[in-house]
Amino acid sequence: MTDLQSPSLDERARCMVIGSPIHHSLSPLIHRLGYEFLGLSSRYLFIAEEVKVEDLPTWLEQARERSVRGVSCTMPHKEAVIPLLDDLDPVAREVGAVNTIVNEGGRLIGYNTDWGGALRALERALLRRDQRTGQRERGETQRLSKSRLNSSYLSPLSGKRVAILGAGGASRALIYAMCHAGAEVKVFNRDLRRAQDLAQRFSVEWGGLEALSELRDFEVIIQATSVGMGAQANESLIDEAWFHSGQVYLETIYAPHETLAVRRARSRGAEVVLGIEMLLEQAYLQFHHYTGFSPPRLMIEREIERHLQLSLSSGWPEPLVCGVVTGSTLPSFLENLARAQALHPLVELRVDSLKELMGSSHEELTEAQAHETLSFIKAELTKPAILTYRRATARSAPSLSAPPIAQAKPTERWLIERQRRVLQAGLDLGIGLIDVDLTEYDALTLRMGEARLILSTHDYQETPSTQQLHSLLEEMAHIQPFAYKIASYASTRQDLSRLFQLLTSPSRPPRLIVIPMGERFAMSRALAPLFGSYLTFAALDQGQGSAPGQRTLEDYHQVYDALQR
Ligand code: NDP
Repeated sequence: MTDLQSPSLDERARCMVIGSPIHHSLSPLIHRLGYEFLGLSSRYLFIAEEVKVEDLPTWLEQARERSVRGVSCTMPHKEAVIPLLDDLDPVAREVGAVNTIVNEGGRLIGYNTDWGGALRALERALLRRDQRTGQRERGETQRLSKSRLNSSYLSPLSGKRVAILGAGGASRALIYAMCHAGAEVKVFNRDLRRAQDLAQRFSVEWGGLEALSELRDFEVIIQATSVGMGAQANESLIDEAWFHSGQVYLETIYAPHETLAVRRARSRGAEVVLGIEMLLEQAYLQFHHYTGFSPPRLMIEREIERHLQLSLSSGWPEPLVCGVVTGSTLPSFLENLARAQALHPLVELRVDSLKELMGSSHEELTEAQAHETLSFIKAELTKPAILTYRRATARSAPSLSAPPIAQAKPTERWLIERQRRVLQAGLDLGIGLIDVDLTEYDALTLRMGEARLILSTHDYQETPSTQQLHSLLEEMAHIQPFAYKIASYASTRQDLSRLFQLLTSPSRPPRLIVIPMGERFAMSRALAPLFGSYLTFAALDQGQGSAPGQRTLEDYHQVYDALQR
């Protein structure tokens, strides 16, 4: 147990996950990814700590006094922690379990996010299933997810028959969630007395495991026993024959990621929600409790998929569409930023459009001025942001054949210095991602800190040959960027095909971004993320693209809607 009273030089607000055992926890990874992408790493720290049941009261007393902002509780503390808290959210009280503690100025308040996490994961899966089977149009899907915000919200689970296997701690949160959504619930358990107790508490039906063949008649099946993990890893309580393609199956177990029951459900065509999806959803709710920010879920999910080597989406991946923000003055830039953040999970700050950061080539732009302008922008960020500042001379030149920057003329060198000051100011302010052109990276000598580098190459005249494209990627690999971006002008079908082949190449790097520029294949920009491009860029308004052929999110959605039909 860490001594929380030892003086710490780290002023960051601490968030923690406690449990026993805790070494397997994915919570630190999920929360830290959120901090990094949102540029919050200088404000928050997330660590895991082994805390035994007998140490819990002392540990919590220390946490109350120290700068521990949030505590995620896992086994075996979810119930034991309740009498030690100052206050309880009414839902946590009703569920009878706490997995989230927020320290509000020394008062410890308990919440439960397991129920909300399971509910969100299941609702998404139901919408996926309905889209797959053509029961629901995309427009309706959007209306439903938006309506969650209204009190008149009608869950897609409303009126559905839901079977819940297990009567332990997780089941309580799950039964609460399903009753809240208006589902008809039946709980099945080995120990009949526990099943009956829970059923009475929530006024639902109950049964024993001998009645499990009834599962075929349920639209949603939730597996919340420990059968499928640890010593029972190769077991399942559910026969393959009880699954069918009209069902949604939620597996609470997340280690292993794919249980025997999951494989059985998939083989029969049921829509599956993995335990990791429920875990992620409840962690996102915790993230909001601790920081006040919405987590960058799509970007976190991409990293978790890479980390665990699994795919969370069945069918097309959800495209990551980055909204490009421009504006000639700071007020107009901030206005566009607000609009872009309302629409997009990620924004690109094209600060090279700002006159405050341009001046004329005779004017000096000091580091302090750059810092001041960018701090107004940073203060408004609620979504992950990519900082981009290209020199005017580099914005249309075929950069692949541009002379090395070291040979630049004196006037150009001055512009490079201005570019460096702006980018460095953004990095010092903690903007999470930065886009730098391969030809400029060395000359800019940036101190990257914790920012993630998107290393890009642009050719505004043509698409290089396949061999050249691969050589470029090899060259970029020496710098080991977070993401690799290839943007090139595609005027023929062969150009487009070379770019898309790059996405399916076995030697492609992770997080490859491919952007076919130009009007002819403008809509292929929308398709690129469906074929494996890490993201694509969208203009905020028609005709306002920052590169040839760039369209709006609305335009891209026409493509996505057509594909779902
Ligand atoms: P509990 O120990 O409280 O409950 C275990 C349940 O499993 C009981 O209903 C128990 O039945 C049943 N069970 C155990 N062994 C058998 C068996 N051999 N045959 C039939 N039933 C059995 O655990 P929790 O409720 O806390 O957790 C349940 C699962 O949910 C775990 O796998 C956990 O990892 C997962 N979980 C996942 C979360 C996520 O975010 N994905 C969040 C929380 C939990 P009985 O009452 O008869 O003993």
